[in-house]
Amino acid sequence: MSAGAEQHSRPAPTMPAADPELLTMVSNRLATVRGRIARACGRRGRDPRSVRLVAVTKGHPARAVRALVASGVTELGENRVGEMLSKMDIDLPVPVSWHFVGRLQSNKARDVIGRVALVHSVDRRSLAEALSRRAQRAEVVQRMLIQVNVGRDPAKAGCDPDDALELVGLVRQLPGLAVEGLTTMLPRPPADRDVRAHARPFFARLRELRDTARTRWPEVSDLSMGMSADFEVAVEEGATIVRLGTALLGPRSERP
Ligand SMILES: *Cc1c(COP(=O)(O)O)cnc(C)c1O
Repeated sequence: MSAGAEQHSRPAPTMPAADPELLTMVSNRLATVRGRIARACGRRGRDPRSVRLVAVTKGHPARAVRALVASGVTELGENRVGEMLSKMDIDLPVPVSWHFVGRLQSNKARDVIGRVALVHSVDRRSLAEALSRRAQRAEVVQRMLIQVNVGRDPAKAGCDPDDALELVGLVRQLPGLAVEGLTTMLPRPPADRDVRAHARPFFARLRELRDTARTRWPEVSDLSMGMSADFEVAVEEGATIVRLGTALLGPRSERP
């Protein structure tokens, strides 16, 4: 900015206020989602506070992040490292925690270590080893989930369900890492199949795996499962974390 421009400009507000129309929309959607989570909990005798909501902001601009936070959301998720790092720089009125929910390459380990509350997508030993090295170097303990490809869908990341317990056992012993649970991404339902009926057995399978793991290792307790199309089924099947984008923010802009 030139000296002349500086003279005439007012001091820039350090924190742009949330766009009022967007804030209304997001607050309403959030209230609806929380109500749906609470009712799904009610059907299973669960306490709604046992389900954490992670708002996935990928493909949405900074003002969407501000509107979520102004509505009371404190946990945000991204599936690409670059987009997450730039969103971490957004000025927000309260501290938030970030979740990395996407595919992670080992050479990006240092971008997430110590910066995110939870890495949701550890699905192989080599990645866990890279995270462990970085965590030791940074002198932090990084919390993470093991991602399981419960539907054995070649298009989805995650370890084979038959290998999940072995991978949990291995990763939890690596220095600097704390395995806190399991996560999954489901295969896309066939066009003629009800989304919820499709999802339920996969969620139930992930829960069984978590239950087995937890009997050996009590800290392996979280179940991150359920997205906008199927989160109520996930909650009925035991999800402790749901990851929602569209239900809170509407459709995303196209990304390459
Ligand atoms: C995009 C994304 C979500 C949210 O998806 P919606 O269907 O928009 O709710 C959840 N988890 C992961 C890993 C994602 O990439």
